[in-house]
Amino acid sequence: MVDYIGIESIQRIVAQRGAAAFIEGLAAEIELDYRRWNDFDKSARHAIHSPDGVIELMPTSDGHQYSFKYVNGHPKNTELGLLTVTAFGVLADVDTGYPLLLSELTITTALRTAAMSALAAKWMARPDSRVMALIGNGAQSEFQAIAFHHMLGIRELRLFDIDAAASDKLARNLQAMALPGLRVSLCRSAAEAVQGADIVTTITADKRNAVILTPEMIRPGMHLNAVGGDCPGKTELHADILLRQDARVVVEFEPQSRIEGEIQQMPADFGVAEFADVLKGTAQGRASAAEVTIFDSVGFALEDYSALRYLHKLQLQNPRNRQQIDLVPHLDNPKNLFGLLAPAAAQSGTQARPAAAAQARNTSTELAG
Ligand code: NAD
Repeated sequence: MVDYIGIESIQRIVAQRGAAAFIEGLAAEIELDYRRWNDFDKSARHAIHSPDGVIELMPTSDGHQYSFKYVNGHPKNTELGLLTVTAFGVLADVDTGYPLLLSELTITTALRTAAMSALAAKWMARPDSRVMALIGNGAQSEFQAIAFHHMLGIRELRLFDIDAAASDKLARNLQAMALPGLRVSLCRSAAEAVQGADIVTTITADKRNAVILTPEMIRPGMHLNAVGGDCPGKTELHADILLRQDARVVVEFEPQSRIEGEIQQMPADFGVAEFADVLKGTAQGRASAAEVTIFDSVGFALEDYSALRYLHKLQLQNPRNRQQIDLVPHLDNPKNLFGLLAPAAAQSGTQARPAAAAQARNTSTELAG
């Protein structure tokens, strides 16, 4: 049996902690994993592009556990009543190769992206940042708002989306949450939204080199959390913003970001730091209050590894959360796989193991890891 987290389970697990505390806990796990960067087997994700979208596989391993995420990005999906981004993933035991957990990762991706954005901002934004522009008010946006309110102390959010209904939805959801001290205003353009902002989060979906932010919008001291540009030919920042003398760019995993990030617009020798270097102290997140810091986020497999481990831990802590599926056969004689299909074999002692025994075995593997 393999542990399973579906939509109902993730709703319950997040509700047990509250979304803000869940995101903060996940950010702490992501930070711990980035601090042991060299333990991980890293590669740029595998992407298959189509005219309207991309489907990606994101694997990594620390030698003990392995994870992968399947994720798509189809900006036109919302016109069909479908999500732009959906995902699921697996956590597995490296010693046996056996899957431990199969989990939904659509909601979890929004939670982990918000956690990663806020974590990066803690190291890069000015500590006195209180005002954030949030441009792109779709599926990911509430998660970003909650994370920055809770972890960074953002107290004013300035919203903009080309779809006014998306901004209305975000404003309504934020109002319903009644986040302490948070003021929300709707803006008529990206330029209006960034006025007076300490942090600007761009999280739009458009499969082209969009220019959401132009150089004249940027003020010294701003932190840009550029999340929506995450594919070849899909960017959000005007290249001249990256080229500012006072700009500092931090990425997750440089080889992947060179292909997918805002820096795909830059020559191969354009200087960037990896977030792990910032944590290690070999690079600075911000050197002065006047610098423009840019977190060029594309999403890296390590963050999903952290998320899957975190989810599995929370699931195992509470028996009410435990759900399992028979994804992998458990046999008394592992060489007699065919016995599962042949009724006669079942009578000769090669039947599947009782669920309880399989479950006990699976649990002990996980807890040992
Ligand atoms: P979504 O389709 O639900 O929302 C995107 C919103 O962007 C829509 O409301 C759309 O109207 C708006 N938009 C498009 N062009 C705009 C423009 N020029 N100005 C203002 N608003 C504009 O998508 P989502 O699930 O919220 O994802 C948003 C983006 O974040 C996607 O591009 C996705 O690929 C990316 N993403 C990145 C990461 C990461 O780790 N970096 C993780 C998840 C999603």
